[in-house]
Amino acid sequence: MAGMEDESKNTGMAPATQLVHLGRDPKRFDGFVNTPVVRGSTVLSPTYDDLIHHRGRYSYGRRGNPTTEGLETALKALEGGDGVVLTPSGLSAVSIALLSVLGTGDHLLMVDTAYRPTRTVCDTVLKRLGVETTYYDPLIGAGIEGLIRDNTRAIFLEAPGSQSFEMQDVPAIAAVARAHDIVTLIDNTWATPLFFKPHSAGVDISIQAGTKYIGGHADLNLGTISAIGPAWKKVIATHGNLGITISPDDAALGARGLRTLGVRLAHHQRAALDMATWLQQRPEVSRVLHPALPSDPGHTIWKRDFRGASGLFSMILKPVPERALAAFFDTLTLFGMGYSWGGYESLAIPFDCRDYRTATTWEVEGPAVRLHIGLDDVDDLKADLCRAFAAMADAAT
Ligand SMILES: *Cc1c(COP(=O)(O)O)cnc(C)c1O
Repeated sequence: MAGMEDESKNTGMAPATQLVHLGRDPKRFDGFVNTPVVRGSTVLSPTYDDLIHHRGRYSYGRRGNPTTEGLETALKALEGGDGVVLTPSGLSAVSIALLSVLGTGDHLLMVDTAYRPTRTVCDTVLKRLGVETTYYDPLIGAGIEGLIRDNTRAIFLEAPGSQSFEMQDVPAIAAVARAHDIVTLIDNTWATPLFFKPHSAGVDISIQAGTKYIGGHADLNLGTISAIGPAWKKVIATHGNLGITISPDDAALGARGLRTLGVRLAHHQRAALDMATWLQQRPEVSRVLHPALPSDPGHTIWKRDFRGASGLFSMILKPVPERALAAFFDTLTLFGMGYSWGGYESLAIPFDCRDYRTATTWEVEGPAVRLHIGLDDVDDLKADLCRAFAAMADAAT
């Protein structure tokens, strides 16, 4: 078989080498380093016999082409699962994964700290289909067993938690689920498979918003679903039956992002930890929420299970009036104000989890701010924050 299908030769390599080599086969494409962008719906068969026996490597554009296959193959090797499907956004990866394993009358356990639109999938589409959702505390660990009902079919995790960065004991929850024959799914966007491998921790379905670090340049929406065992059969069937595809251009952007994912994440990790440590010393900051900080409540679990930390974390400021918070944000010039993250650019947004969480209470002493530390020079970013803190103090008085 061609190189793209045989990744076994790459599995013993370090992640940096894997990222360079996985999912491309220059020999097959006249020496071109990258897999070409193949546009196509119809795939012609050379003979009647090939047509009726489906002997071709590809059958129809919706079912995949060399460009999408290259990215899927690379991700499959990185995730270490039985296969990967691509979807047009991170949220569609979440919804398709959930629709793969849930049906009318089923019960879902969803972590209370999930990405907010993931909750909306549960509270609208799944609810309409007759799936009941119970939200659970991210710190529940093996205590999740107490929430399991006869009809519980799936447990969804996200670690660290969206915006507030609580760590979950993933192996403990996965072990309980396995003992009850319940499927586990995790949104692993923050860590990527470079820093956490969900399947090794016993999780059946691993989801990424490839929009974030895989894309890495704020120019792509992409979702990925990796799965193992019986869950993989369900995911590939549901994805195919629903007719989900992504464009070859987006697949090529995703593959290009993968090539630099390792060096980008190493920088994001170093810069964000440097910034988080610096912010801990700032008089304006009450607390920093970042699991790689030794003082963080989730640090022990993070250190046990994760190989690294990415560039996204939050801070709780000491109380200030809203006009002072507005002055802080309006003074930032290097940090942009905008949703999403994982690109080369640095970002800052305010957030308030009181608006939507139901299984936990969000009680904080001051305004909450989420930061993404991009590829800018860290000292320049600190200077930007210093100017914003000064403007905040001016506006407060
Ligand atoms: C952004 C994000 C998503 C959704 O990705 P989109 O491509 O915006 O749909 C899902 N989960 C997490 C944790 C995210 O940050």
